[in-house]
Amino acid sequence: MTPTTRPLPIDAAEVEFLWLDLTRKCQLACDHCYNASGPEGGHGRMSREAWLDLLDQAATAGIRSVQLIGGEPTMHPHFAELLDRAVALGMETEVFSNLVHVSDANWARFRRTGVSLATSYYSDQAGEHNALTGRPSHRRTRANIARAVELGIPIRAGIIVGRDDQRVAEARADLESLGVTRIGLDDVRPFGRGAEHGQPPDLTNLCGRCGTDAAAIGPNGEVTPCVFSTWMQVGNVRSGDLSTILSGPTMARATEAIRQAVQSKNLKPELKCAPKKCYPDQTPCFPARTPCTPKRELPPACQPDDGECEPGYTSNHCNPRR
Ligand code: SF4
Repeated sequence: MTPTTRPLPIDAAEVEFLWLDLTRKCQLACDHCYNASGPEGGHGRMSREAWLDLLDQAATAGIRSVQLIGGEPTMHPHFAELLDRAVALGMETEVFSNLVHVSDANWARFRRTGVSLATSYYSDQAGEHNALTGRPSHRRTRANIARAVELGIPIRAGIIVGRDDQRVAEARADLESLGVTRIGLDDVRPFGRGAEHGQPPDLTNLCGRCGTDAAAIGPNGEVTPCVFSTWMQVGNVRSGDLSTILSGPTMARATEAIRQAVQSKNLKPELKCAPKKCYPDQTPCFPARTPCTPKRELPPACQPDDGECEPGYTSNHCNPRR
């Protein structure tokens, strides 16, 4: 069977969502970080003016939704101004933060209409959580999740599974006890520090929808089909127009290559892998590495949902694990 794919090139107007991947700086040093961010990371070569201009271009192109991410986006020197601009442009804006530190000014920003939060959580137990983040972050992150709920700020949390014996169910119960209602689940993605033994990036580890209705802008202005596919740079907004890049042949070829690779893999029953664990109420679509189980043998609750893109899937976007 030949995979069916849409004609090339894609229409820039189809891109509805942008990840603004502001920085590689982060207070934490998670051992699975998909883009290898950490305390030594930098903010890249995008200037304040370039980011603001990008937001204006995005709004003109009809993009109505952005996510500010990194690294820790609130550590970017122009984070506040960028968030303010996105809100002023009427964009739905999600801030994907580790919630280790939130200033009073940022709490006020987060409370505005159109702004929401996303974060990652690993365990109800501080020791297990901190072992994965590389810093004693659990207490602060947990307290700030609770505060966000108290303040009525929309927040979703993704439980990132990095260890087979991780207290996933307990982490979920803990989040629910804090009042979080939007809770996702995902395995560590094999990119950046999440890759085992420095394995090179593999197209088939992407969700397959990258670049169709979303794209990412990196700290140096590089445009990629998503935040995971950082090696697939299709242009740079420091030297080119956003709409031209999104509708150009390079973007179309990258998107097609991802789609073909993922579809080819999914057509092979032996590679249609089950998640490492079966979690009630979850519909993970991301093929796990081990153990591989044919899709037909999975119980219904574990069937991958091909209509969604994990991890941390929210309504119509593929969001990264953190
Ligand atoms: S996964 Fe997220 S919180 Fe952890 S180091 Fe990377 S950017 Fe920071």
